[in-house]
Order: sequence, then structure tokens, then C-alpha cells
Amino acid sequence: MDIHEYQAKELLRQFGVNTPRGGIAYSPEQAVYRASELSGDKWVVKAQIHSGARGKAGGVRICSTEEELSDAASWMLGRKLVTHQTGPQGKLVSRLYIEEATNIAQELYLAFVMDRKEERVVVVASAQGGMEIEEISEKEPDSIVRSVVDPAVGMQAFQAREIAFSLGLDASLIAQAAKTITGCYKLMAETDANMVEINPLVVTGSNEIVALDGKLSFDDNALFRHPNISELRDKSQEDPRETYAGDRGLNYIGLEGEIGCIVNGAGLAMATLDMIKQAGGEPANFLDVGGGASPERVLMSFKAVLNDKNVEAILVNIFAGINRCDWIAEGVIRAVKELELTLPLVVRLSGTNVEEGRKLIAESGLNISTAETLAEAADLVVGAWKSAKDA
Ligand code: GDP
Ligand code: MN
Repeated sequence: MDIHEYQAKELLRQFGVNTPRGGIAYSPEQAVYRASELSGDKWVVKAQIHSGARGKAGGVRICSTEEELSDAASWMLGRKLVTHQTGPQGKLVSRLYIEEATNIAQELYLAFVMDRKEERVVVVASAQGGMEIEEISEKEPDSIVRSVVDPAVGMQAFQAREIAFSLGLDASLIAQAAKTITGCYKLMAETDANMVEINPLVVTGSNEIVALDGKLSFDDNALFRHPNISELRDKSQEDPRETYAGDRGLNYIGLEGEIGCIVNGAGLAMATLDMIKQAGGEPANFLDVGGGASPERVLMSFKAVLNDKNVEAILVNIFAGINRCDWIAEGVIRAVKELELTLPLVVRLSGTNVEEGRKLIAESGLNISTAETLAEAADLVVGAWKSAKDA
């Protein structure tokens, strides 16, 4: 789960990381009022969406008059801001964060990520911040510092100082930088975050270390033990198809194509997507119904898939181990009847109780195509989709 920048900064502050002072605004009028509460004569208006690269898209504006503040806020609010991370549909801006402007002397990059190969949290830092990490690793690869954290002891003070030194920071800044690094690590460990990214982390004109941006992402499977964090969820920033499915316990990822997929097991789901593409189609989603799927769960999966208005044909591909093909078949039949499904539907069943499952489908009298192998199923569904389109 992702959260907004202002929420991330609130958490960072709780863990001793410096951030600029700021306040949230929902209207141009509030934006001006928030600025009046802050000191200084320059403010930054920042669109709160779950995306980085807002600056380049007009979502971060430095203002020095009330009129500029109000104009920037009017422009951003209600807009679907398109960054190169949001996709072409963009993300709706309904909140702004108004901050006192910071006088930047140097922009650094600081991130904490889970490294799967190391099976550890890895700190990635660079003295060349401001641009995205992909760009840094292309343009300034030698500036990147990596440091693996031993989970048994956590981030140690000496390790944090070592990172700060390798960023080439002035001796007067080492203690502050080390405090920032340790704070971020503590935040990550205590909240089950799987990513903390501060870009830029800046050295100010008055020689302070300040987090100017903040991006936090949390492990969904651990949210149950952090109610204060799970309540920060903003569903308006998520793909509505994924929210619908996720709220019903389905593993669903929305894609751009027309063939809806209902599959058990993540590996088989990936293989199914490949086979659909191979057959000349485009999958509309990844959906893993999981093991032991009841007829109700299958029905729910159909609802999740049909929730996507781009879906024009459906492929059900089940290799039943823990699952039972007869239950799946029962769910498919219920779905076709209850949802009055008219789209082309191909079902491929294999494994436990396969004979019973196939029999149920054959005897249902419904318009359901069946296939023995995955390749056959993919060809069938893409063929059916194409002829339905041409019809
Ligand atoms: P992002 O584009 O979504 O990553 O948004 P950021 O919060 O990182 O802001 C983008 C850029 O705007 C930063 O890299 C800074 O260069 C600039 N910026 C943001 N806040 C300030 C500020 O208070 N003062 C100055 N001078 N620049 C700022
Ligand atoms: Mn940024």
C-alpha cells in the first residue's frame, strides 16, 4: 500500500527526520490560508497523488504571492495529473500540501528497499539527488552507495555515519545525516514498510538536513497489525478494479487487454498470460483465485473480472491440486447463470475431480467451450474473442 507524501512526512517526523513545515489544503482559499500560517515569503504547492515525478508534470510549484498560490492550487485541484509513473489516465488531485519553501544547497538521494537477493534491507544513497534513481544509475553510477543492514542488529550508528561519510557530506552534517538514516530505518522496521524513498534529501542553505519529499510503501500482508497506517489508505488513488478484487481477498492485477483470466496459482496465471499473448490476444488481468477455491469464490472472481468494462472474453484455467474441479465447475455454472454472462467463455480444467467437473459443465447445457490443454484453451479463447469482435 502506498500513502501520500504529507502522510509519509508525518511518519518521518515521528522518527526524528526533519521535514519542512506544512499543511494540507482542499481548496485554493485553504492553500492561501495554510501559507499564511507558515513563516517565510515563499511556499511550495504540492499535488498529493500516489506518484513521483510530479515536479515535471506541474504538480510541484514554488510561489511567492497569494495570487500565485491560489492559481497553482486552482490549476492542480480536480486535475488528473499525468506523470510518467501514473500511466496516460493520470491520477486525480484532490488534496494539496502547502509547505514553507526550502533553500536548497545540495540534493541527495536516500532510499531503503528490500533486496530479494540479499534478503535484507539495503540502503541506496547518492550525493546526486533530485533526479530519479534510474537516471542516477545511468548518469552517475559511481555516486551510488549501497549498504546492507543486518536484521539481527538493525541499523547501527557507525553504519549510518559510514553512509553519511561516503556521500561526501561535510563533517558538521554527519550527526544529522546519521540521525536521518537511523530514523528512516527504524520507521521501516517498525511499520513493516517495504520501501522508504527520500528524493531529494537536501542540505539547506543553513546547513541542515531536510527530507523534501517522502515516499513510503507498506507490506499489505502486515497492515493488519498497523491500524494507524492502514487507515491512511486512499482508495481514490488505486486502480478501482484492483480495489474491488483486493477487498474480496483475490490476488488481482489490472492489465490493458480484453481477455479476462481466472486462474489458480500465480505461476499458472503468469503462464496463462503468456499463452494468451502467444495466441494473439491481450490479457485484461492477472487473477489468482488461490487454493481451495469454493464455488462462491469463483463467482466472486467472475464479478471482479467483469468489473472491467474492457473484458470481451473470459478464460478459466484451473490446475486443481488443493482445488477441486467440480467446485470450480459449480462456480462457473453459477456465475454464467447469475451474471447472465453472454461473453465467450473457455474453461480448461485439470487435476482433482476433473471428470466430475467436466461432466457438470457438459450437462449444464450452457454455452461454455472446454479445452484439454492450456495451449488449446488460449487458442480457443482468442479465436472466440476475435469472431465475437468481427460479428
Ligand atoms: P516529485 O517530482 O514528485 O519527486 O516531487 P518532489 O517533492 O521531489 O519535488 C520535485 C523537485 O522540486 C525537487 O527535486 C526540488 O528540486 C524541487 N522542490 C521541491 N520543494 C522545493 C523547495 O522547497 N525549494 C526548492 N528550491 N525546490 C523545491
Ligand atoms: Mn521527489
